[in-house]
Amino acid sequence: MAKIDEYIPLVGQAVIDDLRLLGERLKGKVIQHINSTPVGGGVAEILNRMVPLLVELGVDAKWDVIKGGEQFFGVTKRFHNALHGRPEEITRRDFEIFMETSQRNIGEVNTYGDIVFVHDPQPIALVKKKDGNKWLWRCHIDVSEPDVRVWAFLMDFIAKFDSAVFSAPSFSRKLPIRQFLISPSIDPLSDKNKELPPETINAVLRKYDIKKDKPIIIQVSRFDRLKDPVGVIEAFLQVRRYVDCQLILAGGTAEDDPEGFKVLDEVREKARNNPDIHILLLPQNDIEINALQRASDVIIQKSIREGFGLTVSEALWKAKPVVASNVGGIPLQIKHKYSGLLCHSVEGASFAIKQLLSSPEYAKKLGENGREHIKNNFLITRHLRDYMLLFLSLYHPEDVVQLY
Ligand code: UDP
Repeated sequence: MAKIDEYIPLVGQAVIDDLRLLGERLKGKVIQHINSTPVGGGVAEILNRMVPLLVELGVDAKWDVIKGGEQFFGVTKRFHNALHGRPEEITRRDFEIFMETSQRNIGEVNTYGDIVFVHDPQPIALVKKKDGNKWLWRCHIDVSEPDVRVWAFLMDFIAKFDSAVFSAPSFSRKLPIRQFLISPSIDPLSDKNKELPPETINAVLRKYDIKKDKPIIIQVSRFDRLKDPVGVIEAFLQVRRYVDCQLILAGGTAEDDPEGFKVLDEVREKARNNPDIHILLLPQNDIEINALQRASDVIIQKSIREGFGLTVSEALWKAKPVVASNVGGIPLQIKHKYSGLLCHSVEGASFAIKQLLSSPEYAKKLGENGREHIKNNFLITRHLRDYMLLFLSLYHPEDVVQLY
């Protein structure tokens, strides 16, 4: 794992000096992250790098994961969809199941942090102030148009936190507590994002029996309806009428997402054994995902709803031309026709993909602009700084702190 000084060539000495200074100021404070899965999805992706880097900076950062069975994660997945504004049938029993598992976790998870940093709704009921500790709720979901019942249910817990953190201004809501806007980030030196030699990329393509004889389009995502993998296939089939190309749908499932295998079946059904559609169920394998992204000519993220959309940052960091839906945090990353192309439909996506495949110079320029934008705004060093300033601000509630 990369050490903090290895980021100096990318972001400059001053940024790293700043981080060390902030780390000094936080010495002695235990920062305890709590979420619901150690692997799969953006939150785990970030914590896997954030926690060791905080520790290296001298901050006593810890990470605990709550336990939940299939029923509980079935409920929290429906909550997740409903909070994103998708119609979901939520019953009284769902709220009871949520509380039953939460009660068990309250008994089992020791909340020992000076700052307890709770990610997303799954562990939200743990909130309980004691010994003057501070509680942060980090919402990674776009809750701008949530299901009112689920939101009202969560509000009882949210109100008990000291502050809440959202990924983008448009995600936030009126709350009785302080709010911070901090966008997520990628780690440019992780296995997922570091430079790879061509031999590694070629070996991964060989492993999955993918030839480089025609352009590659890829979407990397959990198999989740909100990521619209079936829509990606529809867009691909439209492109395929005009341009000979191939599609990779690469994704795993997350422990807190029980729908994955059902969606995978739908995707396989739609692909009908088309030899140009490669459906790869990857275990957590960052180098392979990195290699597949780097081997691709166009990267797509056709989400119907999205949190921030780390896969878009990952693609842009690799200077790839990206076609992505204009939802969630994606427009923060892509300025249409400057650092990628935004789309609103299957037809829009297929039109944009065709355009990029037929104008390689234009595609290259969009990718280069995208990489610069990620470098300036969405690398983990910026994220570390924002989080450490946030932690410090909790001890100075009277000061106005503007992180964005
Ligand atoms: N990811 C992965 N393997 C997969 C699917 C996704 O490692 O099979 C990673 C992906 O590269 C990204 C993260 O999981 O880093 C997904 O984050 P994003 O914000 O795009 O979506 P989320 O899954 O959190 O909704």
